[in-house]
Amino acid sequence: MGEKFDVIVIGAGPAGYVAAIRCAQLGMKTACADEWIGKNGKPALGGTCLNVGCIPSKAMLESSELYENLSEHGKLHGILTGDLGADVPAMVARKDKIVTELTTGIEGLFKANKITWLKGRGRLLPDKHVEVTAGDGEQTSHAAENVILATGSTPIDIAAAPMQGDRVVDSAGALDWTEVPARLGVIGAGVIGLELGSVWRRLGSQVTVLEAQDVFLPMVDQQVAKDAFKQFGQQQMDIRLGARVLSTEVGKKAITVSYQDDKGDQKLVVDRLIVAVGRRPNSDGLFDPGAGLLTDERGLIHVDEQCRTNLPGVYAIGDVVRGPMLAHKGSEEGVMVAELIAGEYAAVNYDAIASVIYTHPEIAWVGKSEQELKHAGEKYKVGVFPFAASGRAKAQAESQGMVKVITDAVTDRILGVHIVGPKASELIMQGVIGMEFEASAEDFARIVFAHPTLSEALHEAVLASEGRALHIPNRAPRKRA
Ligand code: FAD
Ligand code: AMP
Repeated sequence: MGEKFDVIVIGAGPAGYVAAIRCAQLGMKTACADEWIGKNGKPALGGTCLNVGCIPSKAMLESSELYENLSEHGKLHGILTGDLGADVPAMVARKDKIVTELTTGIEGLFKANKITWLKGRGRLLPDKHVEVTAGDGEQTSHAAENVILATGSTPIDIAAAPMQGDRVVDSAGALDWTEVPARLGVIGAGVIGLELGSVWRRLGSQVTVLEAQDVFLPMVDQQVAKDAFKQFGQQQMDIRLGARVLSTEVGKKAITVSYQDDKGDQKLVVDRLIVAVGRRPNSDGLFDPGAGLLTDERGLIHVDEQCRTNLPGVYAIGDVVRGPMLAHKGSEEGVMVAELIAGEYAAVNYDAIASVIYTHPEIAWVGKSEQELKHAGEKYKVGVFPFAASGRAKAQAESQGMVKVITDAVTDRILGVHIVGPKASELIMQGVIGMEFEASAEDFARIVFAHPTLSEALHEAVLASEGRALHIPNRAPRKRA
C-alpha cells in the first residue's frame, strides 16, 4: 500500500492540475496521477490543453496568421515584404518549445506546492483507493479521503475515416505536419476543424471542410455564424454543409473521401485529411466496476451542479463530465471542488462561460443566442454594431464583423453577447464580467469607454439595443416584446 492522501486527482489537464494546485494551497496533502507521454517520450503534465490542444493550436494559428498578414495584407499597410516564405518545421519547433516550457512550468508549480506526481494510469477502486500503473507495468495503490476524476477527453474516430499515419490524422497529428499539403480535407466544421483548417489554409493549402449538419455552427448566434461563414468563403475556405462523409480510400498518392449531400453521392480528392468530428470522455477502464460509479450512455461521469459524483468524496470535473469541453470550464470546476472539499462555499456560474473560436475572424460568445431566446419565447432587445463603423477597427484594417448584444426587454439585464471580428476572444470577457455582475444595458451605456478602442463597439451595440447608438444610424430597436 502506498501513501494516504487527503486528495488524489486523476488527470493533470487544466481541470486536474488546477484542482491539485488549489487543494494544495488550501493545505491538503495532494497527489495527481497522469499518464501523458510528451513528444520527447517523457511524462508530461498539462493534458490535452497544453500538449496537443489550446496552446499548440494557438501557437500555430498565431504563426500562420502573422505569415498571412505579411504576405497578403502587408501591402495594404504600405509594408513591402519582398519574397516571403513559411518555414513550417521552424513553426512546429516554436510550438513544441512553448509546449515544453509550459508543461515543465506546471511541473515547477507541482514542486512548489508539494504535490506528489504519480506517473502512470490511475484507476478508482472501491473505498476511494486509487491504483496507479506506471509505464513499466509496476502498480502501486494509494488511499485518499477524496478523489477527483479529471481524465479529460480524446478525439472521436469514425469508421468512415480511420486514422492512417500522418495522412489521415486527428487534431494532434494536424499540429505536427512539417509540410503544407496542397489539398487538405477536414471532416467536421466545429471549433477544432475550423481552427486547424485555418492554420493550413493560411500556409497555402486549398482547404475543403465537409460538415454533416445543414446549419453552420448551430451553437453560435446565427446572425454571427452567417457573417463568419461569409468571411470564411471570402478566404476561399470551402465549407460544404449537409455533407456526410461515408468512407475514405487512402491511395498511394491521394485520399478519396466519399460523402453524401442533397445532390447525392460526391467525392473529394485530397492529399491529407483531418478528422475533427468531436471528442469523447475518457472514462473507459477508469474505475473498478465494484466502485459503483455512475456514467451516462456517452461515458460522461454523472455529477451534480457542484461536480459531486454518486460516490461520497468522489468528484469529477472537466471534459469527462457534462457541459462545454473547454479548458477554463474545467479549471474553474477544479477550483470549486477543491474549495468544497476544504469546507468552503463554492460554485461555477455555468451561464457566464465564454466560448471562442480562434479563427480569423475570431468568433466569441457568452449567454443566450437570439435563436435560443426566440425558441424559449423570451422578451428581448437586440443591438448590433458593425466593426465597419469603428475607427479603431478601420485603423487596423479589420472592419468586418460585428458585436451583437441581447438584453432582457423587461429587466434590462444583458442576456448574451456575440462577436465576430477582431480580438473577439478578448472583447468577450467584458460581456462575461458584465453578466457575472448582472449588469443592465443602462449600466453598460453609462460606462466611459476609451477611444479609439474595439471595446467601443460593445458600448455602441448596447446603445443600439436602446435605439441610441451614436456612430450608426439607428433603426427602431429590434424588439421581441
Ligand atoms: P485533458 O486536458 O484531456 O487532460 C486529461 C489528462 O488526464 C490527460 O493528461 C490524460 O493523459 C490524463 N488521463 C486520462 N485518463 C487517465 C488515467 N486513467 N490515469 C491517469 N491519467 C489519465 N479549450 C479551450 O478552452 N480553449 C481552446 O482554445 C481550446 N483549443 C483546443 C484545441 C484543440 C486542438 C483541442 C484538441 C482542444 C482544445 N480545447 C480548447 C479543449 C481543451 O483542450 C479541453 O477542454 C481541456 O483540455 C479539458 O481539460 P481536462 O483537464 O478535462 O482534460
Ligand atoms: P465539434 O463537436 O464541435 O468538434 O464538431 C464536430 C463536427 O463534426 C460536428 O459539427 C458534426 O456534425 C461533424 N461530423 C460528425 N460526423 C461527421 C461525418 N461523418 N461527416 C461530416 N461531418 C461530421
